Amino acid sequence: MAVPFRRTSKTKKRMRRTHYKIEANGVTKCPSCNSMIRPHHVCSECGQYKGKNVIEKQPNE
Ligand SMILES: [Zn+2]
Repeated sequence: MAVPFRRTSKTKKRMRRTHYKIEANGVTKCPSCNSMIRPHHVCSECGQYKGKNVIEKQPNE
């Protein structure tokens, strides 16, 4: 099995890891109220999913 000839320096390791980034994923817009929601989830703002009212929103809450 091949083995690295040299230990990777701190700088080289850190330079490589500058490309590791967090990506904002799994966020879409609600078609009815335009708030940011997760796909395949009921909107927490208006309680709708696929254009249907799934959760009854209480106006006094
Ligand atoms: Zn909504």
